[in-house]
Amino acid sequence: MYDYIIVGCGFAGAVLAERLASAGKKILILDKRNHVGGNAYDFYNEDGILVHLYGPHIFHTNSKEVFNYLSNFTQWRLYEHRVLGSVDGQLVPIPINRTTINKLYGKNLSSDEIAEFLAERSEKRVPVLTSEDVVIGTVGKELYEKFFRGYTKKQWDLDPSELDASVTARVPTRINADDRYFTDTFQAMPLHGYTEMFKKMLNHKNIHVLLNADYRDVVSVIPHKKLIYTGPIDVYFDYRFGKLPYRSINFEFQTLNQERYQDVGTVNYPMSQLYTRITEFKHLTGQKSDKTTLVYEYPTAEGDPYYPIPRKENQALYMQYKKLADETENVYFTGRLGTYKYYNMDQVVAQSLILSKKLLSEND
Ligand code: FAD
Ligand code: UDP
Repeated sequence: MYDYIIVGCGFAGAVLAERLASAGKKILILDKRNHVGGNAYDFYNEDGILVHLYGPHIFHTNSKEVFNYLSNFTQWRLYEHRVLGSVDGQLVPIPINRTTINKLYGKNLSSDEIAEFLAERSEKRVPVLTSEDVVIGTVGKELYEKFFRGYTKKQWDLDPSELDASVTARVPTRINADDRYFTDTFQAMPLHGYTEMFKKMLNHKNIHVLLNADYRDVVSVIPHKKLIYTGPIDVYFDYRFGKLPYRSINFEFQTLNQERYQDVGTVNYPMSQLYTRITEFKHLTGQKSDKTTLVYEYPTAEGDPYYPIPRKENQALYMQYKKLADETENVYFTGRLGTYKYYNMDQVVAQSLILSKKLLSEND
């Protein structure tokens, strides 16, 4: 008899499996895919380059607890991600910073002057509700059009005015020349990759891993006390209230017989192309090779559910499912898909650490 069956071997499932197993619980963790790691899965492709099958994953967090916890299972390679945007025929830093504005407008403004430049153009909106409000309130219409409107339309097939403020608020605006994509205290990549880290987390005598298994095919025949579910919550309830919208992406990989393709990890294409961005993995991993692999991201409506879509009507639908989930005894929903939240990896780890403590304090 297992204490828990955990559905999904991504961050949410793996952290819970490890925490509960370390406290003596017997765990079966399963995934319908043929690998562990969920969307953070990485592997060496046929040219020997370490790539992320489900798009570029850059680890960053301000949580010492999360970083220390994961450090039990991996060493780290310090890495600060940088992004350039292809705008008006130039490559300029994203997030928009002093360099971005000076380069685009052929100026040489100081930080204070950049602040004035933005203040003159921004149109403060009260309240700030949508992703359009956030950007226009910070940089004004022109930079909004150049950097955000087209990218957002490609990524979500929605206008920024149709998305919650939280989406574009992920990308700050800076008056200094800091060109890092993130400013978190801890910015590092697992030294030997995500998959190796997951294998270490799950390597415990109380954990059995079952791959290529949909939980619906096994759950009624494998005795267990409780279920933890990290897949899409609407699927669990057979779409009882209708489908929750998700955004998917087609990832196209390309390997080139050259050492380097671009100057930074990612180049965004907010104004042109059908893809949103190109990422060159060797920047992220530090790998040395005379070849290099890129991934192009083409957003799409069909396919694996990668992104919950943050907007009011979707949240209302999710709350109907959440109510049902809360009423379902001995089943726990967590993770990016299980709680329909646009969470980064570290937020999912934090969420799972909290849930593991709660479950263990229930003391059964
Ligand atoms: P997942 O990793 O999705 O795991 C859920 C697992 O459940 C899946 O493996 C799935 O196969 C399995 N499953 C579902 N249904 C069933 C079923 N019926 N039976 C069995 N198994 C099932 N975060 C960052 O912090 N930094 C980044 O740079 C970053 N980049 C990203 C780029 C892209 C393109 C995407 C899509 C996400 C990115 N993220 C990033 C977010 C990150 O991927 C998630 O926060 C994290 O992977 C979520 O983990 P999870 O365990 O909740 O879900
Ligand atoms: N965004 C944009 N232009 C950019 C970068 C981001 O419009 O050059 C918007 C877009 O809506 C995107 C959101 O900001 O979906 C969040 O960007 P982030 O890079 O955090 O997306 P993720 O890495 O999660 O795909």
